[in-house]
Amino acid sequence: MGRSERCVTVTVWDELVGQEAAVTVLQEAAVAARRVLENDLTPAGDTRSMTHSWLITGPPGSGRSVAARAFAAALQCAGQYAGCAQCAGCKTTLGRSHADVQFVSTEGTQLRVAEIRDLIGRAQLAPAQGRWRVIIIEDADRMSEHTSNVLLKAIEEPPERTVWILCAPSVEDMLPTIRSRCRHLGLRIPPAAAVASLLVRRDQIEPEIALAAARAAQSHIGLARALARDPQARQRRRDIVTAPVHVRSVGEAVLAAEQLITVAKEETRARMEERNSAERAELLRQLGADESDTRNRQTRARLRELEEEQKRRATRAIHDTLDRALVDLLAIYRDVLMIQLKTGQDLINVDLEDLVHQNAQHTTPCHTLNAITAIEVARRRLTANVQPQLLLEDMMMALRPASEN
Ligand SMILES: [Zn+2]
Repeated sequence: MGRSERCVTVTVWDELVGQEAAVTVLQEAAVAARRVLENDLTPAGDTRSMTHSWLITGPPGSGRSVAARAFAAALQCAGQYAGCAQCAGCKTTLGRSHADVQFVSTEGTQLRVAEIRDLIGRAQLAPAQGRWRVIIIEDADRMSEHTSNVLLKAIEEPPERTVWILCAPSVEDMLPTIRSRCRHLGLRIPPAAAVASLLVRRDQIEPEIALAAARAAQSHIGLARALARDPQARQRRRDIVTAPVHVRSVGEAVLAAEQLITVAKEETRARMEERNSAERAELLRQLGADESDTRNRQTRARLRELEEEQKRRATRAIHDTLDRALVDLLAIYRDVLMIQLKTGQDLINVDLEDLVHQNAQHTTPCHTLNAITAIEVARRRLTANVQPQLLLEDMMMALRPASEN
């Protein structure tokens, strides 16, 4: 029997790598929830011990959504082990098709208050077929104060069978009033080795490539997978982090900034194209139309709406890709500093060792620290919606090896 055919226990928690403590908490909560349901059959059933509102936080890529989905599956599970991954409740929840589990996220900049109101309405309904009605807000940090306050009222007194799971990068991203009404669960950055072993096990990636990708992605599971599976993604990353090396003049800084934006746009397009056309086909199908009917006024209006939504999504995605590029650059300078200071720490960029060593030899720790500051400034300006071209040019100028003179 080959290694991959070996019999392993599968549970809903399997994809939540490197989060043993969180898994224990969620597993216990799922078992407690089950007990509540069983006791609930008697009039004396005490449902107060049940936590109806959760806040799951963790850095991007640590698996917030994966944790929320696994927990929802364990709540809906009808198997012997809560979260068996085999029963219909587990399978449909993991596949995002369970009728009583709703996933909410936004690819625009913020969740709209109308969406939240709609959710609150649904939260009042008893579960249709599952054990609980579960509402997962994957971008709970993307809410205005007003929207948060609308949501607050709903999570304060949820109906008996409703569970809200909010996900955000950190507790600081949420209003204190929301925070205080949720049970908080924090995820950590998973160790690179744990991410790599997931890629080997789940995606059949060679161990060596998996580990290099997990390190390069700084344990961001989705990015690690993309890097490990796609040589073009690895090349794009290489282009991004090597761009500042050749900058000496203002003209070169302008060009390097332009290039970085082009790469970010290309990467975004590559990622979105398939989804955009699938959405268009789906919309046409729903309208009972095909490409030849697009002169119909109603069809045209709906398509235009979709295109606008897709454009908003692309803007946010390009923004995220640029930020990710800056994080990649930070990692390079972090590695350079580790070598310059002879700390003996593992490199993040094992695949770019040459570049890192060269840079370490030709610059000083002082320059490296300035570079790190310049990249952090650029990230802050990006968040503050400064024009990308402008902030990247400034950053490229600050990264020049000669700029310390
Ligand atoms: Zn199950």
